[in-house]
Amino acid sequence: MLTSNPAINQPIEDPLLEEKGITLFVKRLDLIHPEISGNKFYKLKYNLKEAKSKGKDTVLTFGGAYSNHIAATSFAARSENLNAIGIIRGDASTPLNPTLLEAQKNGMQLYFVSREDYRKKHKDEFIAQLNREFGDFFLIPEGGTNGFAIEGTKEILLNQDEHFTNIVCSIGTGGTYAGLASAIKNHQKLTGISSLKGEFIHQEMKDLLTLHRIIPEGKLEIKSNFHFGGYAKYDEELIQFIWEFYKKSGIVLDPIYTGKLAYAIWKMIQDDEFQKGASILMIHSGGLQGNRGFTERTGIKLPDHAG
Ligand SMILES: *Cc1c(COP(=O)(O)O)cnc(C)c1O
Repeated sequence: MLTSNPAINQPIEDPLLEEKGITLFVKRLDLIHPEISGNKFYKLKYNLKEAKSKGKDTVLTFGGAYSNHIAATSFAARSENLNAIGIIRGDASTPLNPTLLEAQKNGMQLYFVSREDYRKKHKDEFIAQLNREFGDFFLIPEGGTNGFAIEGTKEILLNQDEHFTNIVCSIGTGGTYAGLASAIKNHQKLTGISSLKGEFIHQEMKDLLTLHRIIPEGKLEIKSNFHFGGYAKYDEELIQFIWEFYKKSGIVLDPIYTGKLAYAIWKMIQDDEFQKGASILMIHSGGLQGNRGFTERTGIKLPDHAG
């Protein structure tokens, strides 16, 4: 089974936090594994275990061209001696972008499908067609969210995190949020920051919790006003914030998820949305591999641990 280093909680120091009487720690899931970054480690762990116990030798999954999930799955499958097939939305670029190049190096077979076909990916017909083409496989959904993923993301919070009053994470498909929701204690509140545009996310998360029979002990909240125009959209202010956060903490963020997450937390602190004395745990869900592709695509430089 996949193994990782334990995640550390790093304290953040800043005059704003002192002024507001708030403590902020960052759970560094970005550091738990050199290749299977952040929340994707937790989401894949029991999926791959299940694939193996079902006797499958191949996993198949879906993702966009810069997907952290694709990158993580390619490496995780290889280290578990499983073949991996990645169904990628859109046309292949030549040369491949850094994410797909890495996936291919890890032995993932990449297949590009039109956006139109990609939308059919949950349909039985489409899966049957994939089975005809590729034979038998274990299917991991886009973003990796299913019951096995949630079993894994439940393990993000540890006993020593019980003293935090607030847990804050970002939301894509919600597998991380759902796992955390099932792990919080009755004195804790989980806030999810949606990286997607739209109010649909409130219902989608409700449905996800219902589907997996999760009845949280603590309180839940979702913020849908920190998407910066939509998934993978950004502006100057967000990029600026990512740099400032890096300068004060040494922590690298990405513009898709964790940058928006940290920005939201900061704004919420400024606007007194946390109670005085709150101790906040921000879940850094990793995903920094995508920064190379972002810079290549946009020409915008981001902080980088590699220097
Ligand atoms: C995939 C990803 C998310 C979204 O996780 P979900 O479980 O799909 O909500 C958040 N942050 C990072 C860095 C990711 O790569």
